[in-house]
Amino acid sequence: MRACSCCYSWLAFIFLFMKTCRVCLAAKPLDAFYQSKSACRICLCAKEKRRRLEKGDEIRAKARARNAANPEANRTRVKAWVAANPERRRRNALAYARRNMDKIKKWTRENPERLREGKRRNQAIRKARQCGNGGNVTRTGWLTVVASSGGKCVYCLADCRITVDHFIPIRHGGQTIKGNLLPSCQRCNSQKGDREPRSWVEAQFGAPALARVLSLLAAA
Ligand SMILES: [Zn+2]
Ligand SMILES: [Zn+2]
Repeated sequence: MRACSCCYSWLAFIFLFMKTCRVCLAAKPLDAFYQSKSACRICLCAKEKRRRLEKGDEIRAKARARNAANPEANRTRVKAWVAANPERRRRNALAYARRNMDKIKKWTRENPERLREGKRRNQAIRKARQCGNGGNVTRTGWLTVVASSGGKCVYCLADCRITVDHFIPIRHGGQTIKGNLLPSCQRCNSQKGDREPRSWVEAQFGAPALARVLSLLAAA
């Protein structure tokens, strides 16, 4: 039987665009391979997974040593990855927290100063994000707001260290402006979080508290 031109183009197609995996022996299109690898992506991933299961500790120890030897390069690489994968970063952080609850609680107890420092940094990060919402407040403007509630938490009326609360949460488009900022204790601020503010205040402290808060906002 003679090969016709269809056969030739079929052969050409296979040579140009297909490759046989060394491991599973299946012929697959080129994009099923990492460049210049002779095993397909699926087989390579499975192999890497097995390797990590078997030698996980050893691999992690090596990576730690490598990173310690060149911390600057490590930081740059991690930063780039975090910027490119915000969603995975969040998932990983959550999973880590769930796995290490006790460790985290212990660290929190033993490092109050570093925790505060971290909170300030987080606030700075939040500020960066809220730039997208617009708004700005001067130090004097903020101090006026604090004074309007007598320097107390506007929600529970506790006389303690005051944090900046966005009444309409930043995540819901709340701006950093007078009329949306309230002095709040850390506890109320974190409990309020990203919740709908009016129903939260009313549920926690009753209707009179909500009226007081709204009048403070209106007067700002
Ligand atoms: Zn394969
Ligand atoms: Zn409070």
